[in-house]
Formats: sequence, structure tokens, C-alpha cells
Amino acid sequence: MTNTSQDRILEVKTLWHYYGNTPALRGIDLEARRGEFVTLLGPSGSGKSTLLRILAGLELPTDVNVMTLDGQDVSNIPANRRNVSTVFQHYGLFPHLNVRENVEYGLRARKVPAADRRERALKMLEQVQLSDFAERPIARLSGGQKQRVAIARSLVLEPVILLLDEPLGALDEKLRIDMQVELLELQRRLEMTFIYVTHSQEEALTMSDRILLMNDGDIVQTGTPEDMFDRPNSRFSASFMGVENLFDAKVVAVSDAGLTVEVNGASIEGVWTGASLPSVGETICCGFRSERVQIADDSTTSMNSLEGKLTSHIYKGKYLDLTYQTALGPIRMRSWQSHAAPTETARIAWHKDQTILCPKS
Ligand code: ADP
Repeated sequence: MTNTSQDRILEVKTLWHYYGNTPALRGIDLEARRGEFVTLLGPSGSGKSTLLRILAGLELPTDVNVMTLDGQDVSNIPANRRNVSTVFQHYGLFPHLNVRENVEYGLRARKVPAADRRERALKMLEQVQLSDFAERPIARLSGGQKQRVAIARSLVLEPVILLLDEPLGALDEKLRIDMQVELLELQRRLEMTFIYVTHSQEEALTMSDRILLMNDGDIVQTGTPEDMFDRPNSRFSASFMGVENLFDAKVVAVSDAGLTVEVNGASIEGVWTGASLPSVGETICCGFRSERVQIADDSTTSMNSLEGKLTSHIYKGKYLDLTYQTALGPIRMRSWQSHAAPTETARIAWHKDQTILCPKS
């Protein structure tokens, strides 16, 4: 998609942030388009919250070349003079105010007249499906309802961007999945820009237009959920995005069509997902997803295949997790025929174009 300056709502270039002598962010570049759902994904300590706090203006960066919000330079503008709102995992609602009063709070601080305030709060409560709860005390709400009040309280201020820091982290799994859908619908309906922090790849894949994967203060890969799922560009990305089968591999041949590598003596073909092509003899990483592996009665030339011997199978309800010992090493396979007895010895196969070859770090 093109990104003209008009639909770009956020632009950050070369952002560094230090705590003492330790860099928490190392020269980050970042953009968001109007109406985009961007997720900052990464392990704990990778710098997601620091980046979000800097976007919110809660912290000023140690050094940044460009930081604009809706075309305006905000590199030295604190939170109270920036039109962004943040939703945190811990709702931070005022227990002595009811639902509507909580939503009205920011408008009151902005001296919006009472009738207008009330109308805007009620309209926003409608958006988060809490109209019937407007006069209820905060203490009498469930966790999911409290988070919806927190979201309404932020959105009522009509921020140019809504920042969300692990907003569903405190909810149980069923509610979290329902709230993912609800939040996404709300974001689409309001056509708002959301910047969303999570450490859950599943949550990022479900909700995002674009995922920014962070590691150790850097954005190491940016892409659509499909890109990140199918074409991780490093061993770190592959592992973080849940690619279960990962091996060290030596490059044997490089061509336009793909790469041939050797893994523990077995010849494997796949697709290079890194930046510049590797050289013959280089050690790289070979990966493929367990759900792409199948038992092949007669595998085709478009597949890698190996003899395997079943070493474990775990029943997971909807599927079976199987491990086959092969010349490559142990290969994990997910079988959706969870009630069929797995074959003890089998030819294991997976498509060459679903075989990821990438830098080993
Ligand atoms: P994430 O949100 O991805 O878990 P953070 O942004 O919280 O990561 O932290 C990034 C790095 O900065 C970590 O190494 C963390 O220990 C450090 N850090 C975060 N906040 C502070 C702080 N207030 N003082 C010192 N170090 C901090």
C-alpha cells in the first residue's frame, strides 16, 4: 500500500532511548497510517512499553531525528499537550466515580460543558456496549467491562492515535478472545489508528494490519500477519512466531528458484526469507511449521521428504502433536485427525515453498 504523507499519521525516525548507559531502544524507525492497526510484538524486555510510553509523551526520548504526530513535531511535547490516549492493562479507573463519570473525566478536565460531556460519554458507552451500565459503580463491573470503560474513557477524547499496552493481559482466555474481536470491530468502525503492545503472537496475528516484531530494543521485522507467519526473516522471528521445526543448515546451492541446504546430511530445498542471499558453505537456519508437515504416501518433487519413526504423540483435543525421528533430527508434526492412531513409521513430507531458510540469528 502506498503511504503518502497525508495518510501517514505517525512518523518516527532514528529513535534512541537510554536508561543510564543501557540502550532500551536502538535507532528505531516507525510509521503508522490513518486507520491502521499496528502491533508492537516482542518478548518481555524488548522495548515495547518504552516505545509506547515515548509515543504517549510519558517519557521524552534520549535522541530522535523525527517524531511527528498528524504532521506536527512532538519530539519535545509532553503527554498533556499531545492528542493521544493510552489504555493500560490495569484499568486505572476512579473507584469513587461511576461508569459515566469515569468516561466524562477527561472531558471535565478539558472544561467541556456538562450536557455536552454527558452526551459524548453516553455515545461512547454505546460504542463499547455499556449503555446499560452508565450509572453503575466501577466496583460492580467484571474485568472485561472495566477494560471497556477504560477504552471508552480514552476514546471519548478523540485522540489521533489510541495506544494500548497489553490491554487484555489481565483477562482470562475466553474473555480475551471475545475482547480481541470486539476491539478490532470498534477500531474498524471508528477508523482509528491503534498502536497495540502485546507479547502474544496469536493476539498479534488475529488483530493487526501490520506487526512490528521487536527484539532487544530494535524492530527486527515488519510485515502483515501473513508475512510474519509464513516468511519470518531470521531464526529469532521464526522461533517467536512459533515455527516449531528449526535446524542449523549449510548452504549447498543458491539459484533464483530457491536454495538447497544440507541438514545433518539430508538435502533440503526451501525459500530464502532473509535480506541478501547467503553464500555456498554458509551456516543458516532451516525452519518449517509443524502444521505444514504431513504423512506422504507418494510425495512429489515439490516437497521435501524423509523417513521417520514416531517417538511421541500427545493428544490435544482438536489435534495430535506428533514427533518423528528422522535423518534431520526430531520433526514435530500437527495432525488434525486427532482420533486416528498415528503411523509408527512413515514418510514425512512438507512443501519446499513452505520451508523457510533464513539467517541463523
Ligand atoms: P517490554 O515492554 O518489551 O517488556 P520495556 O520497554 O519495559 O520492554 O523494557 C525495555 C528495557 O528497558 C528492559 O531491559 C528494561 O529492563 C529496561 N527498562 C524499562 N523501564 C526502565 C526504567 N524505568 N528504568 C530502567 N530500565 C528500564
